[in-house]
Amino acid sequence: MIFDLNEEQRIVQEQARRFAEKEILPTVEEDEKNHKFQPDRVRQMGELGFFGCSIPEIYGGNGMGLLESVLIAEQIAKVSPSWRLPFNMQNLGPALTVKQFGTEGQKSGFIPSWVSGEKLGFFAITEPDAGSDVSGMKTTAKDVGDHWQLNGQKMWISNASVGDTGLVYAYTDKEKKYQGMTCFIVDLKNTPGVSTQAIETKLGLHCAPTGEIAFDGAKIPKNAVLGKVGDGFKICMWMLNNTRLGCAAGALGVGGACVDLAIKYANERTQFGQPISKFQMVQAQIAEMVAEHEAAQLLVYRAAYLKDQGKPNQMQTSVAKLFASEAAVHAANEAMKIFGSYGFSTEYPIERYFRDAKSLQIVEGTSNIQKLIIAGIACGHQQNR
Ligand SMILES: Cc1cc2nc3c(=O)[nH]c(=O)nc-3n(C[C@H](O)[C@H](O)[C@H](O)COP(=O)(O)OP(=O)(O)OC[C@H]3O[C@@H](n4cnc5c(N)ncnc54)[C@H](O)[C@@H]3O)c2cc1C
Repeated sequence: MIFDLNEEQRIVQEQARRFAEKEILPTVEEDEKNHKFQPDRVRQMGELGFFGCSIPEIYGGNGMGLLESVLIAEQIAKVSPSWRLPFNMQNLGPALTVKQFGTEGQKSGFIPSWVSGEKLGFFAITEPDAGSDVSGMKTTAKDVGDHWQLNGQKMWISNASVGDTGLVYAYTDKEKKYQGMTCFIVDLKNTPGVSTQAIETKLGLHCAPTGEIAFDGAKIPKNAVLGKVGDGFKICMWMLNNTRLGCAAGALGVGGACVDLAIKYANERTQFGQPISKFQMVQAQIAEMVAEHEAAQLLVYRAAYLKDQGKPNQMQTSVAKLFASEAAVHAANEAMKIFGSYGFSTEYPIERYFRDAKSLQIVEGTSNIQKLIIAGIACGHQQNR
């Protein structure tokens, strides 16, 4: 068992760290306050190959694996959890899924523009009345001869208000339940009957747009079906097993940032005539944060490694996502306590990590849903895929 990163992995990690420090950090607080999303930055990240991991060179990828993707996303999230989102929107969601299930025309037609950041990707599963229970969705796609007619509403969709092309899940035969769902590649900006609206009332992640998509008889071409009609649920679960790795990488970034900030502050802040890091109760807080962060890192890197090896990883991915997101929330919570009033202040970054961390327990399947997956596989009710 080798625990060291190789030379190439250390180089990409360092490149991402420098990018985050130079390009994102100087304006991160102001941008969050202004809810400023920057498509140019997505393109810049695409040019650096950040979204090309696990994508073959013929489709614009770079031959690196998902472990490299995790290393890069972790460094970005350490500075800005918002800017971790494009890894899921450009690569782990639409691009990897189309690579796995798409026709040659779909692969060459869509993947390169997601990987380069030229087109903003998205994936739309969630609806006002269907979150954890994906099968509860109401959006339908009807075969009307020469095209599909899409009707319904998606909610809480990352990139909804800015997205170009991405994946939409809908029922083509509601009676068949899990076998009646289909995945479509949809062009949000050039499809009549599609409208979008931003959701501006979020707790955090303000530089990562989230919104609603309404389909009102939207005309979807026949060749927009990804995989086979009726394969949508299977495709959706396959996709979520990858996007939750991206979420877990983001959690590592948040946890790592909170550990670093808390230690620095605890060494600098003096009370009762000595740095607060000399007090055993503060040390206990920091020790827990460090231990959980290091454990989370090993779990997330292992899940990425298993994926890169093509080995079963669904349980390990859910374990990584569950543990890393809970550890990130705990780290943010403890860091806020260590910072005292300054942690409560918007003048310091802790409150931003605290707010952003909460999203990690929800997206790509809540912590409870990860537990259902883990227990289901551990108890032998489902196979580890
Ligand atoms: C910032 C952000 C970005 C997002 N981006 C996207 C996106 O790009 N695409 C997309 O499709 N969706 C996206 N979502 C939606 C997200 O995936 C859902 O919010 C999530 O799946 C949970 O669904 P819900 O909010 O409807 O909660 P619900 O499913 O209503 O769950 C509410 C509570 O009940 C619990 N619960 C539900 N079922 C069970 C059960 N069987 N056992 C135990 N507990 C249960 C949950 O754990 C949770 O605590 C995003 C959400 C956020 C906040």
